[in-house]
Amino acid sequence: MNTFQIWAVGRNYADHAKELGHTAPAASGEPMIFLKAGACAVASGQDIRLPDWSTDVHHECEIALRLGADLRFSDLALALDLTARDAQVRLKAAGHPWTLAKSFRDSCPLGRPVPLSSLPGGPSALLELRFTLKVNGQLRQVGHTKDMIFPPETLLTYILERFPVRPGDWLLTGTPAGVARIESGDRLEAEIEGLCREAWTARRTAA
Ligand code: ZN
Repeated sequence: MNTFQIWAVGRNYADHAKELGHTAPAASGEPMIFLKAGACAVASGQDIRLPDWSTDVHHECEIALRLGADLRFSDLALALDLTARDAQVRLKAAGHPWTLAKSFRDSCPLGRPVPLSSLPGGPSALLELRFTLKVNGQLRQVGHTKDMIFPPETLLTYILERFPVRPGDWLLTGTPAGVARIESGDRLEAEIEGLCREAWTARRTAA
């Protein structure tokens, strides 16, 4: 039973905002926060069930940060903020919320937590991480946490002031460029160099 929520930020890497045709937000502006239900999480190694109502589910590889009992960051993990891009485009055009596009069943593959205290260089090394996503062995996304428009501490301050954030909740910190459609049978391998590696396989199944 999941008892956590997954807070997330859109357009936190300029190269990704650009590839979707958006202007990157100014660092002095306001982050765009959305929610994925905690029950969307898929543990590392499990299959991702692709929804049968979307033909354009995209991978968005992201660094996820977990909040400890003191509501400070305690752990990190690799996550995939899966997005039904066709539904998102339709909902945005209609001026509707994105919930279907972002918070559908299995929409948040979430790797094993790595304590920040175990980072070589300590918690400040959080801003020095390089992470990658390969699909079927081919490199699709490369991110550097230093390229975030809103750094993790800024995002944390923002959400703590506005949302019912609780210990154990996760924060997804945004995706770099390279998002693309996932096909049934694809093997998705995410890695933070020298720290952790996770893999999931996508399967389209009948509901
Ligand atoms: Zn995302």
